[in-house]
Amino acid sequence: MIRIEDVIAKVEHNRPDADVELIRRAYLFSALHHKGQKRASGEPYLVHPLAVADLLAEMGLDEVSVSTGLLHDVVEDTLVDLDTIRSYFGDEIALLVDGLTKIAQISNLSKERQQAENVRKMVLAMITDVRVVLIKLADRLHNMRTMQFLKPEKRARISQETLDIYAPIAHRLGMGKLRSELEDLSFQNLYPEDYKRLAKEVDTRRPELEAALERIISTVEHRLRENEVPFIEIQGRVKRLYSLWKKLKKQKISIEQVYDLIAVRVITPNHKKYCYLALSVMHDTWTPVPERFKDWIAIPRDNLYQSLHTSVIGDGGQAFEVQIRTEEMHHIAEEGVAAHWRYKENKLGTADDNESIDELRKTVEKLLLPLVENSEADGDSEDFIESLKLDLFPKDVYAFTPMGKVIQLPRGATPIDFAYAIHSEVGDTCTGGKINGRIVPLRTELQNGDVVEIMTTANSKPSRDWLNYVVTSKARNRIRHWISEQQRTESIDIGRKLLEKEADRFRLSPKKLMNNDTEMKRIANEYGLGRPEDLLASIGYGKTLPRNIIAKFLGPEKFAELDPEKHKETRLETGMKAVKRLIGLGEDAIVVKGVDNLLTTRARCCNPLRGEDIIGYISLGKGIVVHNKRCKNVKQLMVNKDRIVEVEWAKSDKEEIQSVRLLVTTENRTGMLADITNAIAEIKTGIRNASASVSRDDKGLIEVTVEVFDKKHLDRVILAVEQVPGVIAVERMNAN
Ligand code: MN
Repeated sequence: MIRIEDVIAKVEHNRPDADVELIRRAYLFSALHHKGQKRASGEPYLVHPLAVADLLAEMGLDEVSVSTGLLHDVVEDTLVDLDTIRSYFGDEIALLVDGLTKIAQISNLSKERQQAENVRKMVLAMITDVRVVLIKLADRLHNMRTMQFLKPEKRARISQETLDIYAPIAHRLGMGKLRSELEDLSFQNLYPEDYKRLAKEVDTRRPELEAALERIISTVEHRLRENEVPFIEIQGRVKRLYSLWKKLKKQKISIEQVYDLIAVRVITPNHKKYCYLALSVMHDTWTPVPERFKDWIAIPRDNLYQSLHTSVIGDGGQAFEVQIRTEEMHHIAEEGVAAHWRYKENKLGTADDNESIDELRKTVEKLLLPLVENSEADGDSEDFIESLKLDLFPKDVYAFTPMGKVIQLPRGATPIDFAYAIHSEVGDTCTGGKINGRIVPLRTELQNGDVVEIMTTANSKPSRDWLNYVVTSKARNRIRHWISEQQRTESIDIGRKLLEKEADRFRLSPKKLMNNDTEMKRIANEYGLGRPEDLLASIGYGKTLPRNIIAKFLGPEKFAELDPEKHKETRLETGMKAVKRLIGLGEDAIVVKGVDNLLTTRARCCNPLRGEDIIGYISLGKGIVVHNKRCKNVKQLMVNKDRIVEVEWAKSDKEEIQSVRLLVTTENRTGMLADITNAIAEIKTGIRNASASVSRDDKGLIEVTVEVFDKKHLDRVILAVEQVPGVIAVERMNAN
C-alpha cells in the first residue's frame, strides 16, 4: 500500500514550495470519512484515493490537485457535503471535488451505449478546471487497474465507458501512456475472448519478436554511432494489443501483414535536426516502405504529438516501424498536457501557479474542443485552426431524464423547455418540475448534469407567462400556438353569445340564423373570412358588429322593419344616450381609422379624454378598448401588435361631457375646499362631487370630480385650481 509520506515526498520533489500540510489534512479527512468502507477487493477504501493522489503526484501536479485526489470520492460516497469540503479546504478544492462528483453522477445515470457521445460532451462541459480532467483520468486509471474484483457486467460497462469517453480525452490531451493503458485494460475486460486469443497469438511470437527487436536496436545503435548522430536512448516495443486488434479488424489483415507490429524508438537530444539526421541514417540502412513516412515534427498533430515515423523492411523481409523524436517530444508524447505542465513549471520556476493553470487551461480547451465539436471520437481534426475561433462549451446544457436519457438544450433553458423537448404533450400539461429531486420554480435555469423530472397533470394547460422563460423555439411555438387557439376558442364563444343576443333583439330565432350554414358562410365570405367560426371569432374580437351580421342576413328591408332601435321611444333613447355620456361611454366619440361602426369602450384604467392621444386595443368581448397612449397598461398591450388599432377622436359638433376626478393637495387651512370649488365654478365648469380630508403629513387632500368637454377644458380647470393660494399640486386620477 502506498503511504501518504511517499506521495508528499513526490510532490516536494517536483515542487519544493508546495503546501504539503494541505495534503496531510486532506489525507486525514479522507481517512476519517471513508473509515470502515471497503473496496470490492476487501481492502480499505482509502487505498483508492491514496493511489489516485500518488498518480497525480507522479504527474507532477500541484498540492491542490493531489489533495483533491484524496478527497475526490468523499462527497459521492460518504455523508460529507460540498459545503463541509468548502469550509475545511476552501473554494478551489470544493470546485474541483464538485466537478468530479458530478461526473460520477453522470456516469451512474447513463448506462446506454448510444449516449456515449452526449455524455462525453457533457463530461467535457463539466470540466471547469483542467485539473478535473487529470484527476478524473487518474481515478479511472486506478479503477481500471483494480477492477478484477468486480462482476463481469460491471467491468464491461466501465470499460466501454473508458473506451468511449476517457481514452479519447486522454488521446486528445496527448497522454499517450495513460491512454494506452486505459485502452488495453478496457479491451481485456470488454472482449476477454478476443483479448486472450490475440495475446496468445502475440505471445507465441514474442521470443522471435523480441529477438528481432534486440537485433534491430543494436544495429540502430551501431549505425548512429558510426554516423556520429547523437542519441539518448533506443527503445523497442511490440504493438499494444488493443491497437493491434483494431488494426486487424479495420484492415481485415493477418498479423503478418502489420507493418508496425514491432517498432523501435530513437530518442535524441533536444534538437529536431538530430531527428532528421537519425532518419537519414535509418533510410540509408534499410529500405523504407513507400508512403509510410510521416513527419509530425514539421506538422505536429493536434494533440501536440511530435515525432518522425517511418516503416522499413528489415533483414529477412521483416517490416518494422521506426519512431524518432527528441527527449522533450517524447515526454509530451507520453504524458501530454501533464508534461506540458511540468515543463512550464520547471522553466518558469517561480511562476504564479494561477497563471500557468490559466495558460494550461487554454491549451486543454484547444485540445478538447474537437471532441466537443466533432462527432467522431478519433480526433485528428483538420479544421483545428478554425475551431480555435469558437468558445469552448458555450452553447449547450445537458440534462437528464430520471431514466438517464440525455436532453441537449441551449443555455438558459428551463424545465419547460425540457418538458417540450421530451414531448409536446408533456410540455402542454406540465405543472411543475424537480431538479435533482428538489421541486423548483418552472423558470429555473437548468445546469449541466441536472436530473430533471417533469410533473404533469392531465387537462392542465400552458400559461402565457411561460413565454417569458423558455428559450427553445419548440416550446415557444407550442405555447404561442396554444394561446392563439385558446383565444380563438374564447372569442368564438363570445361571438356566438353576442350574435345570439342581437338576434333576440330582432325577434329572430338564434338557431335559425346560426344553423343556416349556407347563409353564415356567405356572410363570412363577404367579410373575407373562410368559415362561420371565423365570423364568430371576429365578432368576439370586436372587429365585426353583430348588428351588421343581422342586417346582411335579413336584407335591408326586413332589417329596417325589424330594427328594435326604431321601435324605442324617442325620449327613452335620448335618456340612455345622456347616461352613456355621463359615464364616459360616448359611443360616437371615437372613430377607428380605416374602419367604422365598431364597438368602442374607454379603458377604465386611464379614462382617456377627448383631445388626448389615444390608441385602441381589440379586447375579447369588449370590442376596441381605447386607452390614453401614455397609460401604463399600453406598454404591456403593445406586445400583441396585431391587436393594436389606430383610433382618433371623431369630429363632433355635440359637446360631450366627461367626468374626471382630480386630487388636489393643499396646505391644511380652513376654506380651501370652498376656494377651489369657487375657482372651478368661475370658469363655468360643473362639479359632480367634492370631498376633503387631511393627510398623515398634515396636508389637505381634496378630491373633486369635474365635468369637462375635452383635454383643453381640463387643462383650463387644472390651471385655475393651481392658482388658488395654498394649492400645492393637482393630479388627475384614474376613472375607477
Ligand atoms: Mn474514485
